[in-house]
Amino acid sequence: MKIKKEINVYCPKCNKHTLHTLKMPSKGAQRGLSKATRRHNRAIRGYVGSVEPKIHPKKLGKRQKVLLVCKECKFTVERVFGGRTKKKIEIKAQ
Ligand SMILES: [Zn+2]
Repeated sequence: MKIKKEINVYCPKCNKHTLHTLKMPSKGAQRGLSKATRRHNRAIRGYVGSVEPKIHPKKLGKRQKVLLVCKECKFTVERVFGGRTKKKIEIKAQ
């Protein structure tokens, strides 16, 4: 799915339609001391490789999230394009 780099959408802060630039969200780093990570580390103690069975998800598509940055007030909103799709979002150069 191809989307233009700049689109005219509603900004909740400016309370009107303004030009927004599209930005791909970056995945944050995993916390090393979260509850799930500690539980997993406890489970695989003494073993090599994976202990817990792999989960096969039934959902086939992923939600394609894009960050919209307002050009006037720099406010950022998250927007999902296309619902659950298999196609990845590409931002057009022009
Ligand atoms: Zn704005």
